[in-house]
Amino acid sequence: MIYQRRSLLPVCRGVFFSALLLALVFFNAAIAMGNLSQDITPEVAEITETEEFSVDPSLLLLINSIKLLDNSKGTQSIKYAQEHLLQFSSPKSPLNPAEQYLYLLAQALLIEKKTQLQPPTLNKDKVTESIVALLAEAKKVGEVIDEGQLSQPIFLQLHEILANKYAELGQYDLAYQEKREYLIKYDIYRDNKRNAMLSALTEEFSINEKKSLNDSLIKQNQQQVQRVDEAQKEKKMQQTRFILVMAIALAFGLLFFWQLKVRNKLIVLTKTDALTGIFNRSALFEHGHTMAKRFSEQPYDLSILLLDIDYFKKINDVYGHHCGDQVLKTIASLVNETMRTRDIFARLGGEEFVALLPLADSSKAKAIAQRINEKVAQYDFGAIGLKEQVTLSIGISTMDYHNASFEDALHSADLAMYQAKAQGRNCVLSYQNISTSQERRGI
Ligand code: GH3
Ligand code: MG
Ligand code: MG
Repeated sequence: MIYQRRSLLPVCRGVFFSALLLALVFFNAAIAMGNLSQDITPEVAEITETEEFSVDPSLLLLINSIKLLDNSKGTQSIKYAQEHLLQFSSPKSPLNPAEQYLYLLAQALLIEKKTQLQPPTLNKDKVTESIVALLAEAKKVGEVIDEGQLSQPIFLQLHEILANKYAELGQYDLAYQEKREYLIKYDIYRDNKRNAMLSALTEEFSINEKKSLNDSLIKQNQQQVQRVDEAQKEKKMQQTRFILVMAIALAFGLLFFWQLKVRNKLIVLTKTDALTGIFNRSALFEHGHTMAKRFSEQPYDLSILLLDIDYFKKINDVYGHHCGDQVLKTIASLVNETMRTRDIFARLGGEEFVALLPLADSSKAKAIAQRINEKVAQYDFGAIGLKEQVTLSIGISTMDYHNASFEDALHSADLAMYQAKAQGRNCVLSYQNISTSQERRGI
């Protein structure tokens, strides 16, 4: 029993593989018959698309099918192949040279395969010769086909078969030539394939290179745009900062000038007499000390006038204090008009005024004092309601070595003025002209 099962196993395996091979042959034949002509392998598609003459794909499949035929597929498959091949003998459209070449090759292959599967009853050499004849004819047809196309393996196999057949016939020279031709064309095929691969790789590389270059350019562009944005922002910020700094500087400048103005105004106010608008007592003493100091360093003509309004109390009493103020203002204005640019005219206090006259000696000071006296005495105070004339008593002192301080000089002028009062008022008197025994009064 066990022996029987063992003997059946190889038989079953053989049946299985035979069935598989038969199915393969039928499948190939069906494709070759055109049932599945659309479903061609990529290798064949590549050949038909890239070469000079396009070849019917079913012819290519037929050639491959013939080559795959063996004993296991039975004689039926040969019959199918033959029938299929017959279709190419009378095609609807004439075969191009490449198709003719392959048709003849297929015929030769089929004969050869038939010989292998069904050994010929005739002389074997005759069959070989018929194969050689078919292949030689194909070779002739191949003269118009491009070298590149002929170097494709499907075309190239012709030379190998032909070389074998020549060898079988004992024509070794021809066999050698065919083998040589096969190798030369195979070299061409290999070179073409390598070049095609190289150019494909180069193209792929250049595409990748261009892509990466493009990517880096896009990145660079983005970075540049970002940099421009940042630069614009920075510029805007700088402008804002500049405007802010300028605004602050302007505000500080305005504040500084305003403070300076206020300060100057305050200084002027501290040196100005509120009623008359001329220098006040403090400014008088400041200027007086400066002039006296300059005199002590380098003596020059410097005279002082002390002016006192006569009977001013009476004006106040008769016309009122307000009228008295107007008289003070008017006299200050009248005297100020007669002053030179370098002179200093100030209110000492009450109804007393002082004039500092640099570069004026005693006689010049006296002339100025008399001019002032006349001007005031002749002035009509009717505008402020005063009917009487207003007069001044003026004392003059001129600085010398014995009288070098401002206080002393002022005191001398006061003494002179006091003496002028004593002499009847409305007059001018110099300190040099009064008696040294005169009693000095404090000022
Ligand atoms: P004399 O001729 O001797 O100088 O007599 P006088 O009246 O002018 O002198 P006195 O010293 O007796 O009087 C000065 C008066 O001046 C007293 C005072 O009320 C007045 N007086 C002082 N200052 C002002 C002022 O600012 N305005 C007014 N309206 N009167 C003033
Ligand atoms: Mg007085
Ligand atoms: Mg007076």
